[in-house]
Amino acid sequence: MEGNYQRLEHLGEGTYATVYKGRSPKGEIVALKEIHLDPEEGAPSTAIREISLMKELDHENVVKLLDVVHTETKLMLVFEFMDKDLKRYMDANGNHGALPPQTIKLLMYQLLKGIKYCHEMRVLHRDLKPQNLLINARNQLKLGDFGLARAVGIPVNTFSNEVVTLWYRAPDVLLGSRNYTTTIDIWSAGCIMAEMFTGRPLFAGSSNDDQLIKIFRIMGTPSEATWHGVSQLSNWKNNFPPYPPQRFEQQLPQMDPYAIDLLKKLLVYDPNLRWEAARCLTHPYFQDLWQPPVPQHSLQMPAHMHEQQQLQQLHMQQQYQHQQNMRLQLQQQQQQQYHHQQQQHQQHQHPQYQQGMNPHQQHPQGPPYQQ
Ligand code: AMP
Repeated sequence: MEGNYQRLEHLGEGTYATVYKGRSPKGEIVALKEIHLDPEEGAPSTAIREISLMKELDHENVVKLLDVVHTETKLMLVFEFMDKDLKRYMDANGNHGALPPQTIKLLMYQLLKGIKYCHEMRVLHRDLKPQNLLINARNQLKLGDFGLARAVGIPVNTFSNEVVTLWYRAPDVLLGSRNYTTTIDIWSAGCIMAEMFTGRPLFAGSSNDDQLIKIFRIMGTPSEATWHGVSQLSNWKNNFPPYPPQRFEQQLPQMDPYAIDLLKKLLVYDPNLRWEAARCLTHPYFQDLWQPPVPQHSLQMPAHMHEQQQLQQLHMQQQYQHQQNMRLQLQQQQQQQYHHQQQQHQQHQHPQYQQGMNPHQQHPQGPPYQQ
């Protein structure tokens, strides 16, 4: 029991914190995030002020911070409870992690809307990754931990000394830039978009330099010609191997031309040329979300209702897909059962069948249950 919040099961280990399912004094199910603090230093007042500001964030695509409980040894953040993070969602619903294109579009739209709102509120995330994007049963995506990096610092190591993933970190940050802005989150959004299409991280580096090399191998090694000022960054080396750029179209054949075009606006070397979230939302990749095929009677609906409809449609599609899969499984089982029975019957009645005769020759219409 901490500040009248009851801790239920352990949910996950985050970059800064351990997360538990919990119950509020009012009986609501919540997520309790216990932030690891240096036992000697306690919570820096700047962190507490910063986190308290996060309570002001109120948007449908940002996980709501409900309360902040501060004791001598720890800082506990109370968030609205969400079903799963994007990583688990991809594992559960994807084909080896790769999601259907229309699902990706709806998730990307919500991701960019959440980023746009936070950037308008002058809050950067700085640590966007699939594990920090949370999805509820209605397929609503919400950004988790917004602003935490600013309060607690850019993560280097977790409490458990696990190395924090660098896969979504912008090249300007990897090269030592300290005056990054909202553009740092846009790079991460690009990496997440590509990962949703393939099921695999786009740039999976194991160290700062390896991460840069993984990016250079696909996007080409930058130069002053392609990124003005790159050679002035503190981690820049003149002897980086000179890789030529690859075409995203070839690297990511799963993506349609509009998706590729948006990706090219997100994954831009020069941070000043990366698109802002608000502009990304106007990209033609999203055009079918703005003009959903709505029936006449609902033409008066406000814009956000159209989006809600799309989400419901997506949910129904997924349910339909699930039912189809169940039907297929059942058919396969029935077919196997049928063949097994036939084999036993044949072996009993016609010993020649044992010498490899095709059972379908005996049944020109084929087995039952086939569509
Ligand atoms: P994080 O520190 O945000 O990376 O959280 C670690 C893990 O805890 C996430 O990957 C989620 O699985 C889970 N988690 C975080 N926030 C919530 C939440 N609001 N509701 C449910 N699960 C959460």
